[in-house]
Amino acid sequence: MRVTQMFIPTLREVPAEADAISHQLLLRSGMVRKVAAGIYTLLPLGNRVVRKIEEIVRAEMERAGGVELLLPIVQPAELWHQTGRWDVYGPEMFRLKDRHGRDFCLGPTHEELITHLFSQEVKSYRQLPLLLYQINNKYRDERRPRFGLMRGREFIMKDLYSFDKDEDGLAVSYQKMYDAYSRVFSRCGLRFRAVEADAGAIGGDHSHEFMVIADTGEAELTYCPVCDYASNVEKTPCHYHGSEEKEEAGVLQLEATPKARTVEDVASYLQLDTTKVLKSLFYKVDGKLVVVLVRGDRLVNEVKVLNYLNANHLEIADEREMDDLGIPMGFAGPVGLCDRTAVTILGDMETQHLYNAVAGANKKGYHYINVNPGRDYQVDYYGDFRVAVEGDPCPHCGAGLKVQRGIEVGHIFKLGTKYSEAMGATILDEQGKEKPVIMGCYGIGITRTMAAAVEQSYDQDGIIWPVSIAPFEVVLMAVNQRDPQLAGYAEELYKRFVEAGIDVLFDDRNERPGVKFKDADLIGYPARVVIGKKMLSDGLIEIKWRSSGEITYKKMDEAAAYLQETLSSMKS
Ligand code: ATP
Ligand code: MG
Repeated sequence: MRVTQMFIPTLREVPAEADAISHQLLLRSGMVRKVAAGIYTLLPLGNRVVRKIEEIVRAEMERAGGVELLLPIVQPAELWHQTGRWDVYGPEMFRLKDRHGRDFCLGPTHEELITHLFSQEVKSYRQLPLLLYQINNKYRDERRPRFGLMRGREFIMKDLYSFDKDEDGLAVSYQKMYDAYSRVFSRCGLRFRAVEADAGAIGGDHSHEFMVIADTGEAELTYCPVCDYASNVEKTPCHYHGSEEKEEAGVLQLEATPKARTVEDVASYLQLDTTKVLKSLFYKVDGKLVVVLVRGDRLVNEVKVLNYLNANHLEIADEREMDDLGIPMGFAGPVGLCDRTAVTILGDMETQHLYNAVAGANKKGYHYINVNPGRDYQVDYYGDFRVAVEGDPCPHCGAGLKVQRGIEVGHIFKLGTKYSEAMGATILDEQGKEKPVIMGCYGIGITRTMAAAVEQSYDQDGIIWPVSIAPFEVVLMAVNQRDPQLAGYAEELYKRFVEAGIDVLFDDRNERPGVKFKDADLIGYPARVVIGKKMLSDGLIEIKWRSSGEITYKKMDEAAAYLQETLSSMKS
């Protein structure tokens, strides 16, 4: 391929709207363009990266026994009514009507469609296990589409669904996918970690997420430096590991704390440690008021709260809702709360041991001091409701956990019979008995993986693609395309590279070398091959490696073999 035939609209300026480094670089390098919030065009170079990721995914899905099909994006509401998800999916679902007024959605995921297909076509355990997958667009009207391809409203996903006759079968399929995912992300040249993930009400070891390690990631994960434990921080269990000794309770007193609205303000105003503050967070959970108490220096783990309450939606109460309750924002607390309003109070287990604490007095400008559990307030339930932090003990071996940020690129999940029961997807077992098929689902965000790769590998000049997913592995150019001799060598070398099967782009533009070099660095081809003065004087070609900056010189005859060998050694 030649640059003069391509369409690579690079940008010199950093686009103002780009909110993440991958977003900036993918725009600047001419790989994507925004059409609307969370909706992007993949330009030719970006499309090549996506195709390469897809090919790696396809190869590994097939190796694991997966079979590809293609399900429709436009999905009838009836199927979603069968599982009850039409009503619970919420505003993330793009909904539409046809000319007859019938309801449809743009598929945010495909469990309903695949389970329906299975229920119509598969009858016997003899046809199992069955692993069906597709690579297709997904539509989710995300609350906050952002970071370019990272959190889009239209994006490409690979989704595979496994069907087994029993739990043992599911365990085998799940492990196959776990291994396949590990291979996919290794082959994409990414540093990643598989972590235990929240599996909602099902719980247990039923779900893993694959996280690309990046400081800019939206997800936080904990891992153990000693054993192999790793989990999404949403899932990491916390236990109380402080003293069991009870402090003598002081006298409850109202204390003026003007303007001190945050935990830090209150602690510094009263000259206390934030660990002595009892923090009260007000939530609307499926429309009901829930207050969660945690120690002042802790964060509420909203996923744990949702799971405990077996609820679907949780939102922090806003100032207006607090006003309606007559509770001034920043001065909320549990003392006397139940007398004022119907509320469920959940206490993180640490707060059960938090004596003589400071808590909001539900009165503007005031806090209570010497607040004690049991005496001054009651909770409905004590449990694990906080976010784990660095140094918390590993749930497997007790060593201090480490915390890291990551980008979730893949998610695997044991579904069991949730969808098959709802949709009548049954099989006849060995005894001729009818039973629901056991399912798993397994997703990889293809476009998010592309963004994650950039987020993990770039420098001040641009992207540094892993070889296996680079838009082209090699860019070739003459320092001066107008010099017939240099251009002739470049043309000859291009022919040889193509014949050797090298994935090469020939930058045949009549541009200054500085411009071409800048573009090459920005786009991030792993190898840059330049025909320059050394060709005329010594017959040598310059080869520069994008990741190490290393430069080597090779003869015309050696170049292709050297590149092939080095590039293939760089693909893991
Ligand atoms: P998140 O927690 O990031 O919203 P999710 O749990 O909704 O992700 P899944 O439904 O498990 O995601 O989807 C499988 C994969 O699809 C994810 O691991 C991720 O790689 C990708 N993905 C999900 N939502 C988006 C999105 N809005 N844009 C791009 N990729 C996405
Ligand atoms: Mg989501």
